[in-house]
Amino acid sequence: MPVNPRGAPCHCGSRGCWETEVGEDALLRNAGLQAVGGGRMALEAVFAAADRGDEGALAAISSVGNWLGVGLAGLVNIFNPSGIALGGLYARLYPYVRDRVARVIRERAMPAPRALVEVMPAALGPDSALLGAAELAFAPTIADPTMVPRRAVRQRRIVPVGTVVGRNTIVHDQGGETAAQRTA
Ligand SMILES: [Zn+2]
Repeated sequence: MPVNPRGAPCHCGSRGCWETEVGEDALLRNAGLQAVGGGRMALEAVFAAADRGDEGALAAISSVGNWLGVGLAGLVNIFNPSGIALGGLYARLYPYVRDRVARVIRERAMPAPRALVEVMPAALGPDSALLGAAELAFAPTIADPTMVPRRAVRQRRIVPVGTVVGRNTIVHDQGGETAAQRTA
């Protein structure tokens, strides 16, 4: 998703794509720490410097916060979500850029979806995306455990021959064809 026409070259061939403006590389590049090779230690060095009031680190974080807000405003307009959960680096970053992100979304997103959305850091750490995907798969079970067996049968498109389904019996004839026969 292109956000910054004057941004850094992106591996996709464009420049100023969202990931090049808000990712780990962007934070380290802005902080002048790209040479250290990245990783969690390098990122934590930026946050530690910001905590000490280092202006370079604060400016680097602020820039990433700005572009994070620009991209999120676009997502708010397109998807009209009720919530955006920031995981990984962005959950770590969020306390530093909360006000900046809120301001950019306020300035750039349309009023109606903006009023609906809540931006929050993911609470489950680095595996939050994986856990979210698992939770989505289990959502019907969590919502109503009594629905599971019925729902599971109903969603299966393949009905074994000879199984009674409601008031119909599925039978199998000699020619290999399947036929339903009303039994009531
Ligand atoms: Zn790109």
